[in-house]
Amino acid sequence: MPQATPVVEGLFTDTANGPRLTGSRCAGCDMPYLPVSALCHNPDCDAPDLQPAEFGPWGVIWSLARQDYPPPAPVKFDEPYQAYAMAVVDLDDGLRVLGRVATDDPESVDVGQRVELIIDTLAHDEDGKELSTWKFRVVEQGAGA
Ligand SMILES: [Zn+2]
Repeated sequence: MPQATPVVEGLFTDTANGPRLTGSRCAGCDMPYLPVSALCHNPDCDAPDLQPAEFGPWGVIWSLARQDYPPPAPVKFDEPYQAYAMAVVDLDDGLRVLGRVATDDPESVDVGQRVELIIDTLAHDEDGKELSTWKFRVVEQGAGA
């Protein structure tokens, strides 16, 4: 299988334990950051150093929207356009992050569902090369909104 190219470098990686988002965590107040941050932005924290951190794979959908029509550039998608769900996910390790939900049925996606971080195809570029990104896959139905 040809290697897919991350649509943005440095935001996610496939580790021996599976996909993870790559950012920072403050050594003083434990605040998570994505992408990597050089400084802690917590006004109550004066810790001087942030550590490299990996986030995921488990979380819960906090909010979501369904993208029923093609989004404007620079958002990438393959033709023909297919609606997708975009979720705000609270990862178990403290990061709140946006991501598409990998499903054939975006209407089945709901707040409170438990999800797993995956790396999946986003689109193909003009040369047919696969571009990858992180997404979430529903692993358990939640209590609902
Ligand atoms: Zn801090």
